[in-house]
Amino acid sequence: MKYSLINPDWTFGGSIYFGCREPHLPLEYGYAKALLERVGHDVLLIDGHRDGLPAQAIAQQTHAFAPDIIVITTAPSYLFWRCAPPELRAPLEIVRAVRESGALTVAVGPHGSTTPEAVMKKLGVDRVIRGEPEEVLPLLAQDPGRGKTIPSVFWREEGGAGRRGTPHESDMAALPALRWPREVLARRRHHHHRFDCAPGQTGAPGAEVESSRGCPYSCSFCARETFRGRYRRRPVPVVLEEIDDLVSKGVSYLYFIDELFMPDSALLAAVGERDVAFGIQTRIDLWTPELLERLGAAGCVSIEAGIESASEAARLALGKRCMKTNSELIDLLKCARDHVPFVQATLLASDADDPALTAEWRDLLLRSNVWTNEPVPLFPYPGSQEYAKRWGPPDEYAWERAHGCYLQQHSAFSDIQEERPLPLARLEAGGGR
Ligand code: SF4
Repeated sequence: MKYSLINPDWTFGGSIYFGCREPHLPLEYGYAKALLERVGHDVLLIDGHRDGLPAQAIAQQTHAFAPDIIVITTAPSYLFWRCAPPELRAPLEIVRAVRESGALTVAVGPHGSTTPEAVMKKLGVDRVIRGEPEEVLPLLAQDPGRGKTIPSVFWREEGGAGRRGTPHESDMAALPALRWPREVLARRRHHHHRFDCAPGQTGAPGAEVESSRGCPYSCSFCARETFRGRYRRRPVPVVLEEIDDLVSKGVSYLYFIDELFMPDSALLAAVGERDVAFGIQTRIDLWTPELLERLGAAGCVSIEAGIESASEAARLALGKRCMKTNSELIDLLKCARDHVPFVQATLLASDADDPALTAEWRDLLLRSNVWTNEPVPLFPYPGSQEYAKRWGPPDEYAWERAHGCYLQQHSAFSDIQEERPLPLARLEAGGGR
């Protein structure tokens, strides 16, 4: 069977999206392609974001390949499932461009994992996969009903009720070591979240890898109710095989996209033996001074640590389950900065914040060369406890509701948003490009 895996060319004009806008390796498509090819399917992975392909160009490539199944993602790489653009503007353009092909159209991503009904209605696709898609995609070929017997597939008969399905959780130990083509890597100058040198200064490619998925915590603002729940590690030898392949192809910087890069002495020791720098996202309260020293010695040059608030009461209200006091967190951040050239303590704006304490905290950390942002307004993602607390389980209008409320409540957004975001309906009608 022939599968076309499509990553649209994402545009962010008018969006509340505050993540990185550069193209990243679509790791979930990488695993899916390897698993599909392992059982004899033909796969065309079209990365419109990497190649800057408009929807029509993607459609032309797709039609020439004549796939049986067309897969469209609603987030630019699994790295951004955690903070995807709420609007489906880019996937909508793809679906419109490929609809006439007659292939089964399948949406994957964080939106459909949480609100499959809304995604099917908006995109007009035939199926929506809930949860992590890489192991589910090969099952579609085996099922004559193309997913109707697969628990994580949402489908709806003409005019009938849909079957919601349950989100799938991939067996991370079973995912293969990825081997990206040399020519794909050669063009990648982006080093994600790296600030110890100017972009492109090293002249060598950067790449993203994943050593684990999921998180054992349950912060209230985090969209994790319908995917990336349980913490799962990939076996260290598999991760190293992937890293060695990347390094042999010239990659000099890795970004571990793990929601929560946990201390792992075996992985750190092995990565430290390789000629590669790396960046991570973590909770600083999981590290000790000794482990932070080991992290820096292994080649870590960038840490993004979600602190969320300078106020212990606010952290408690956000469900951080952080057992450290403010002064312990500050000491750990400073210690991290002693060993790692860039350390960020991320803050979210919350009702329980104490503005004077936040200002004091930022001043202290900035003087210690730990970057601390102005607190960013919290977007109540459907699939987060924050959304459920306000409005109950996400329904067909969840994204519009959360987006409308966000625009109404905030006049200032993150440091990188220059323009006033547009309403969701306008974005999905093609506005703001
Ligand atoms: S620590 Fe909290 S914010 Fe970070 S991934 Fe886990 S639940 Fe989400």
